[in-house]
Amino acid sequence: MLDNATLYINETKIKENTRILRTNLNDESKIIAVIKANGYGCDLVQSALLCERMGIDVLAVLSIDQAIELRKAGVKAPILLLGVTLHSNFKYLLEYDVIQAAVNYQYALDLAEFAKGQRKNIKVHIKVDTGLNRLGLKYHELDHIQSIFSMEGLDVEGIYSHFVASQSYDKDDLDFSKLQIERFNAVLDHLIISGINPRMTHMQNTPSILNFGDLGYSAVRCGMVLFGLFHPSQLEESKSMGYESVIEMRLRIAMIKEIKEGEYVGYGREFQAKKDMTIATISSGYVDGIMKTFTKSGGQVIVNGTKCSILGDIAMSQFMVDVTDVVCKPEDEVVLFGTDDQTIYDYIKHTGQTINELISHIRYSIPRIYVK
Ligand SMILES: *Cc1c(COP(=O)(O)O)cnc(C)c1O
Repeated sequence: MLDNATLYINETKIKENTRILRTNLNDESKIIAVIKANGYGCDLVQSALLCERMGIDVLAVLSIDQAIELRKAGVKAPILLLGVTLHSNFKYLLEYDVIQAAVNYQYALDLAEFAKGQRKNIKVHIKVDTGLNRLGLKYHELDHIQSIFSMEGLDVEGIYSHFVASQSYDKDDLDFSKLQIERFNAVLDHLIISGINPRMTHMQNTPSILNFGDLGYSAVRCGMVLFGLFHPSQLEESKSMGYESVIEMRLRIAMIKEIKEGEYVGYGREFQAKKDMTIATISSGYVDGIMKTFTKSGGQVIVNGTKCSILGDIAMSQFMVDVTDVVCKPEDEVVLFGTDDQTIYDYIKHTGQTINELISHIRYSIPRIYVK
């Protein structure tokens, strides 16, 4: 069924972004595609199935419900769960064959205990905290990290860490990234000297790949790059490398009307017409993730190739635009962002969101249509 809003996802561009990424990695490097936040707004299941078709090695999500949704949709690739699974949901890790992050020592013990009770093994990747202080065993907990490898009930298939500020070119941040790399490498060295094969090692997210190149771990763990999304500090560089964003969001005109000079538009009488005008009511609003800050900062939408100003405030499911000089009719599509006229980066300059906030806040039920 058509919706009042649609996200068009350019499959060809995702493939091209992935191809460019591979040219920037060692030949042996595997790709763990992170598809959290509904596949960075590009639909969890459709992005996963595309990743599988592209031969991506592992998929990563942040919660067990996402992993289950992928399995129910027929996804066969290994799924790594980077977030914490509640103890009462441990059974699903086994039932749906999900690799769980071992986020601290006690958590690893609990996973092992549960698995032993089921006479099965839970697959894990060990998370090492090298400075973010979010999840993970501290990099200096070497005995604990080592002992997880021999826990009955667990199959340790990998070990990883996560950068704090890898999008930054500031000297102090670069030094901190270097320190994190040293801390992670020291853990890996300790394991190897102890005769343990750490299996899959991974630390690099999207910004770190642009900033540092391939650091030589056995896999990269990235999301944004596949969808052509980058931090502002890396936008120019990413463009010069050929990466392109893949998301275009379009809305629909509900109706068109004429108004007279002096009339108000929208809640709170925030806009008053200085002349006779033609206005279009658009069937979208903040329920779809369009921030009120968008209109407050002079945001525009593109109606049949022409940029049109938003009049007054954005309501829950509707807002109005000035179409006085544009030929248009009800049900015409209107571009919110994603074309050269208004890129996703132009758009967030108006809303004040980060790129990841934007793609996380687009209403999940808006259809994502993959185009070639
Ligand atoms: C989101 C996330 C990634 C992917 O980061 P990108 O910058 O999108 O490549 C990798 N690892 C963890 C732990 C994450 O939360």
